[in-house]
Amino acid sequence: MICAVCNREGRGFGFIPRLARLRGPPEAACSMTCLDTIARWRRTMIDPTPNEITAMEHGGQMGGEYLDSIAKTDLAALSPEQWQTFVEAVITGYCDHLRDLAGRDRGRLDGMAGEVPF
Ligand SMILES: [Zn+2]
Repeated sequence: MICAVCNREGRGFGFIPRLARLRGPPEAACSMTCLDTIARWRRTMIDPTPNEITAMEHGGQMGGEYLDSIAKTDLAALSPEQWQTFVEAVITGYCDHLRDLAGRDRGRLDGMAGEVPF
């Protein structure tokens, strides 16, 4: 199965909507991080984790550094190519930083495994 969030190979994590009294097909995930994202998509979790908040800040910083590099601050003035590069900087900055934090935080994530309701 392929992760519904990042398209990596699934590793046994999955979201089963009926267990949360929701409708829809089961979705595979590669990690607790992606499983949390699926759950949030389904509106069963609202608050981002501390690592996600830190990753959002990092992604925003990466987007800001790109804007600094092209000396622009008005997003409406970006060309389509500049907009795509800006979004890529934010998303890549977020995802890479979140993976880095998760890699350093393996013990805490393993401890969360017992909290999965299935
Ligand atoms: Zn994933």
